[in-house]
Amino acid sequence: MRPIHVTRSAMPPFSEYCEEIRDLWDSRWLTNMGAKHERLREELAAYLDAPRMDLLTNGHLSLELSLQALELEGEVITTPFTFASTTQAIVRSGLTPVFCDVDPETLTMDPAKIEPLITERTCAIVPVHVYGNFCDVEAIGGIARRHGLKVLYDAAHAFGARYKGRGAGAFGDVSCFSFHATKVFHTLEGGGACFRDEAFGQRLAWLKNFGLEGPENVTGSGGNAKLDEFRAAMGLCNLRHVAEELEKRGRVMARYRDRLQGVPGLRLRALQPEVQPNHAYFPVLFDESRFGADRDRVQEALGERGIMARKYFYPLTNAFPCFQGRFDPEETPEALRASRQVLCLPLYGDLPPETVDEICGLVLCCRK
Ligand SMILES: *Cc1c(COP(=O)(O)O)cnc(C)c1O
Repeated sequence: MRPIHVTRSAMPPFSEYCEEIRDLWDSRWLTNMGAKHERLREELAAYLDAPRMDLLTNGHLSLELSLQALELEGEVITTPFTFASTTQAIVRSGLTPVFCDVDPETLTMDPAKIEPLITERTCAIVPVHVYGNFCDVEAIGGIARRHGLKVLYDAAHAFGARYKGRGAGAFGDVSCFSFHATKVFHTLEGGGACFRDEAFGQRLAWLKNFGLEGPENVTGSGGNAKLDEFRAAMGLCNLRHVAEELEKRGRVMARYRDRLQGVPGLRLRALQPEVQPNHAYFPVLFDESRFGADRDRVQEALGERGIMARKYFYPLTNAFPCFQGRFDPEETPEALRASRQVLCLPLYGDLPPETVDEICGLVLCCRK
């Protein structure tokens, strides 16, 4: 089956989804925090170890509305090694991103580089659990406490990953998830925010529903970011199968590692102590001088065979043309280097072992 994309959405059995949506023809309650929305919210909060949780229409609006519900003003320390969404959410919320470099091993925000960036205008830290690698949550939490800053994790990659036995919804003031079709767990489109503070939850609930505090009382300038019942139903079905999907991905990952481990000039994703991985992505960093071919050459060679590897993340968000002149990617050199070297190889539960072998063979053939 070609092309082979970087991921392929997991789907529940067709009959299971049909069964799950059947009662919507009786209730006719299709959206606006219906029964399935509430059930999924409870099940996901338990799965992610979230003290509290709300569901939204996508991951991006979870980030954007959470930043707004935190009632922030000023500068936000964040990472440029992420999907466009993280930085756009900060800018679109009227905040100023200040870019911190990443740790070269995990490619998550380097906590040693945060404090020099703090000014009297700093209000929050927005790190990203890239590829499901956990940020140094203890160091970041300590810095935030010392300086009175909020912490919002972009946890879009971290669904199902665990640190010291705890799910990714347990950390920071807020952790935002994406349930987009390309993620490990999905609701077609969808997102969620995990948090502890009840007042924050109230503000978020208003923001996602037009600022309506009641049918006749509008208290804030909210929009519409609700998750409907059909997508909640897809989530309920997919959640029943997510353990199996993670296990299958684990087997694919192990085969990749087995084939590519120890090849000079190739760096595979670091295994973190005390982290139970979710096998969300398989990034490989190509050091041209040692490997004998650069990342773009490998991407091209795979593309010629219909294998669509992706540059997650290139370019850095602080190099986007829409921010021209405002930021300098040279100020985050580790992130810049990684963005030039990284290629994510296809990874999903149903990727056949023979295809993994073929991909690894093609990668190794690129060596001079
Ligand atoms: C997918 C993703 C998002 C955005 O989520 P959507 O559900 O697509 O809006 C944000 N941040 C990161 C790191 C992501 O990978």
